[in-house]
Amino acid sequence: MVNSRSNQPYFSDIDPPTRLLMGPGPANVHPRVLRAMSADVLGQFDPEMTQYMNETMALYREVFRTKNKWTFLVNGSARAGIEAALTSLLEPGARVLILQAGRFGLLLSEICERIDAEIHLIDLPWGEVATLAQIEEAIKAVKPAVFACIHGDTSTTTAQPLEGVGALCKKYGVISYVDATATLGGMAVETDGWEIDVVSSGLQKCMGGPPGSAPITISDRAAEFIFSRRKVELGLKTKDSAAGARPFIRSNYFDLAMIMQYWSDRRLNHHTEATSMLYASRECARVALKEGLEARFARHRECKAEMVRGVEALGLKLYGHSATRMTNVTGIYVPAHLDDETVRTRMRDEHGIEIGTAFGPLAGKIWRIGAMGHNAHLSNVRRVLAALETCLK
Ligand SMILES: *Cc1c(COP(=O)(O)O)cnc(C)c1O
Repeated sequence: MVNSRSNQPYFSDIDPPTRLLMGPGPANVHPRVLRAMSADVLGQFDPEMTQYMNETMALYREVFRTKNKWTFLVNGSARAGIEAALTSLLEPGARVLILQAGRFGLLLSEICERIDAEIHLIDLPWGEVATLAQIEEAIKAVKPAVFACIHGDTSTTTAQPLEGVGALCKKYGVISYVDATATLGGMAVETDGWEIDVVSSGLQKCMGGPPGSAPITISDRAAEFIFSRRKVELGLKTKDSAAGARPFIRSNYFDLAMIMQYWSDRRLNHHTEATSMLYASRECARVALKEGLEARFARHRECKAEMVRGVEALGLKLYGHSATRMTNVTGIYVPAHLDDETVRTRMRDEHGIEIGTAFGPLAGKIWRIGAMGHNAHLSNVRRVLAALETCLK
């Protein structure tokens, strides 16, 4: 086997071209995170390793702004965190209410369909948000076990306001789940302030890391429910859980009861923690907390303001409603006389900059330009705007 590009046997070394990743994620990785990932692995039960795990739990409690004991990592990309949460919270046949207003809302439904949950939707046009009153009305009508929604849906560049949502769910005995993949580290995610039971995320958006780890936080009451669905013993041929009544979790890899036992002081073996991703997650959190979350949110807001100024100066139109736009990714209408893909290809090939296309009803209609995590700096925003100006001609 010879690489056509280099004539080397077995292809060339990994040496990716330099790109400024200004799409809806992944964004470029902070150099300190890359350095942390290059450290050698340890045995899973090495005291040094278990200490790193405990430190990671402590760091993410601050990042998620929670006191939740159960704050840890699910191995896999952000979707792994979503699937672990929903699979562990929803018994087959259980009712789930999903707020759907974009591509990632659809993903929640898709996952719930696979676990045989009874799906009910607050089905909104893409880019719209629900009011508290709308959510309450739907909860009263559906009486779900779980309410699930997306915080910032990158597909529509829109953020759902979550103030009061968790408390509302509690009032009706509903467990709340939020996917904060696109917002954690870039916009305020107030797990305890909003009283949300389970929040999951990823690293490759505003946390400044690579894809492949899903930080998650779980309230005591949600954890208690999940533990009640624990399988009694490995290999036991019963459908009963440890509690004797509840159907056990229909996934081994995403069984949060087992994963929590692994992260507990008992260290009950489940998977082998993805060590290099643990190093990355831990370093992402250290970088974010050292900067300060509020300073980080402000940095994303400043980039947004600059992006909006620049885009409007170019005569382009912004997508979405000003009150609910995410600060870390901006939707921009593709001018009628231009082709979405031609411009994106020129941005990449002539300027080394990646910007995002769109999906579903927005496909070909908007570009999505992000300024996330380590990339959220005015100099990067100005580089994108200058390149875009050239490519629009
Ligand atoms: C990017 C994104 C994801 C993607 O998850 P991955 O599995 O890491 O690709 C999920 N949810 C939201 C809201 C996102 O913006």
